[in-house]
Amino acid sequence: MTSASSNHADIVVVGTGIAGLATALALARQGLAVALVGPRAPLPPLEPDRFDPRVYAISPASRQLLAELGIWDALPANRIAGVRAMEIFGDRPAWGRHPGRLGLSAWQAGSDYLAWIMESREIERVLRQAVQWSGIRWVAEAFTGAERGPDRSGWTLQTAGGTTLHARLAVAADGADSRLRAAAGLTVERFDYGATGVVVHLRSALPHQECACQWFTPDGVLALLPMPDTDDGHQVSMVWSMPRAQADALLALPEEDRAATLEARLAAATRGRLGDLRVRGTMHGFPLALQRCPQLAHEGVALVGDAAHVVHPLAGQGLNLGLGDVQALVRVLGGREPFRQVDDPRLLRRYERARAEPLLAMRTVTDGLFHLFGSQPAPVAWLRNAGLDLVDRMPLLKRMLVNGASGA
Ligand SMILES: Cc1cc2nc3c(=O)[nH]c(=O)nc-3n(C[C@H](O)[C@H](O)[C@H](O)COP(=O)(O)OP(=O)(O)OC[C@H]3O[C@@H](n4cnc5c(N)ncnc54)[C@H](O)[C@@H]3O)c2cc1C
Repeated sequence: MTSASSNHADIVVVGTGIAGLATALALARQGLAVALVGPRAPLPPLEPDRFDPRVYAISPASRQLLAELGIWDALPANRIAGVRAMEIFGDRPAWGRHPGRLGLSAWQAGSDYLAWIMESREIERVLRQAVQWSGIRWVAEAFTGAERGPDRSGWTLQTAGGTTLHARLAVAADGADSRLRAAAGLTVERFDYGATGVVVHLRSALPHQECACQWFTPDGVLALLPMPDTDDGHQVSMVWSMPRAQADALLALPEEDRAATLEARLAAATRGRLGDLRVRGTMHGFPLALQRCPQLAHEGVALVGDAAHVVHPLAGQGLNLGLGDVQALVRVLGGREPFRQVDDPRLLRRYERARAEPLLAMRTVTDGLFHLFGSQPAPVAWLRNAGLDLVDRMPLLKRMLVNGASGA
């Protein structure tokens, strides 16, 4: 494998989240000289019964990528919870009708699991170890600026610690506020949902039975994801995308009142589906927005992960989309003709084309659901609940939805 020990590399990846680490690792596996730029803050040690508040639903396609990178088998199996089924509940419309309900199971897609729930930091931990063993040069400093040389001679990148790196291709994996994207002149369109994703782990009186539950409530979208049991009992992870003012008010309460308020609201929203629910951990809030970049690549810079797109978390697909970018970019660069350099505009166009359809589909679904269930007029409320019931009785459509939900 070629190494980027000097300040010259074929590719510099900026950003050391999951998308950046996976990109650097996958490209280095192709024999390219890769340098990685971004912070390497120590991760808290793995402790039984203490879980990272950030968990992701990893799709079968993302699992496949992690397996190809040798990451999947290195993840601690006792920290992973499989999702065999999903239950989606509508809201309670006026005139006392039942909320709509839709059930999806893995067997409808002919597979064992729809997704796997795991902690962000455990995926990062294993990816970091693999990156360190792979000979990738990791400059653990923030990227500060870049300049494009004349005649497609590549990019010169600067870091906060004064390091200068040269590469033909720079990959922006530095998140939603990507500085490299801005330096390359790539634009971003942003729509603020006016909502916050409140996340916390909960102890549930009843076992989740490997089922992820989601409620479209008048107070936003509530998801309870299966988690490994603890000594304390059964566990689920909550993501409640609620109007920002409500989230701000909740998060501003003193800790005990905050837990009690949330528990009362959970009882009303879930109506005993998982029995009594108790807060076990610290609550965090993430502002939610939709972001779209008209161009995913230009002049020797390619965007991946949240630097390329941000979607509402109601489908739990943001990171999965990012790992889809990684897979597509690696496939395009790995399949290039021998006479093409890694920054060849034709390759970058191929990457953009490969991602256009999946990105549009996911944006349409997540944004559409958000607006459908955010709408209050009675006829719309009736229609969405009746729609869930109807789909529940249509096996073919359900199979398509299962494939979509599992990213297959
Ligand atoms: C509430 C919530 C729940 C979610 N649930 C799911 C889910 O279940 N499934 C799913 O697939 N997705 C989910 N997502 C989406 C997911 O969190 C993101 O899509 C994913 O974290 C993006 O990863 P990334 O590596 O692209 O970006 P990030 O995780 O943002 O990483 C960016 C990295 O770049 C680094 N960086 C930033 N600036 C610089 C700089 N100047 N120089 C160098 N490095 C820099 C940062 O330190 C960071 O390491 C959820 C999101 C939210 C808000």
